[in-house]
Amino acid sequence: MAALTLVRNEKFWNDYLAHNTVYIFPDLTGVNRYRGFTQTATRTVEGNRPQTIFVIHVSKDLLEQGQTEMVAANIVHELSHSAYRSNQIGQAMQKFDTDLAGLLVDHPQIAALRSSATDPAALRNVHLSRIRQMLYEVTGYGEEEIFVHLQQLTHQPSMTVNTTTIRGSDFILQQVELFMRRLRRIGMPVGILNRVFASIQRQAMDLYDRRIAMSPAGSPERKNLELSKEQAALIFQMALSESATPPDNKPEMKHDPEKGSHNVRRYATLSGSELIGALTGGVAPGY
Ligand SMILES: [Zn+2]
Repeated sequence: MAALTLVRNEKFWNDYLAHNTVYIFPDLTGVNRYRGFTQTATRTVEGNRPQTIFVIHVSKDLLEQGQTEMVAANIVHELSHSAYRSNQIGQAMQKFDTDLAGLLVDHPQIAALRSSATDPAALRNVHLSRIRQMLYEVTGYGEEEIFVHLQQLTHQPSMTVNTTTIRGSDFILQQVELFMRRLRRIGMPVGILNRVFASIQRQAMDLYDRRIAMSPAGSPERKNLELSKEQAALIFQMALSESATPPDNKPEMKHDPEKGSHNVRRYATLSGSELIGALTGGVAPGY
């Protein structure tokens, strides 16, 4: 597979793939909310160190359109997830997300969606896990996404969105800023938030250092990685200061008494109609 070859051209990932088992499957649902996603498992063969098995799902549409670079960027994205030490905010928010999902799932408007179901209890479980996933995506999800987007920068091609071409680095900047904004909206104490940002930045630079150290001295590959590291550091700084200012138009920051209290909207920018739309249509809003 051409995309995998692009990833293997870098010594670090080649070695990483050699020590782990990776299966790549086309995701038949095509381009969804995720361009790809990864399932991981660990297996221990007697006498050896534990191995991680990755099952990476890559959008069928991207594969069929021959978007090799885009697929390569997604593979680096997915592999980088496994290199992130621990998702601190994700873990800290877990109980909150679960408890809030437990309250929302029995909200009269959401319970009404199950009134004519053949198995309302089973559908309640489906609703519960979807709501929990949506809450996760507007809270803890952002931490690792910042980290992995900074890594995929090395393979990120320019993209055409609505006939406008966006440079790879601009796309990464947009994504990092978006996820930083989401983390800021959780309402964590500033000191803790800043420590989390510093930890993401440190880990991102550490992984770049490991990738650079594996590349042959004096090679173009090494030079490119060094440049990408500098660019990633700049993107992080730009996104950090940009995300601290209100966005140009900010419907999600507005206090809307129709759609819930200000506090709830600080935690999750899901509106009630988005939530119900996602549960009935099966397709969640584009997080
Ligand atoms: Zn991801």
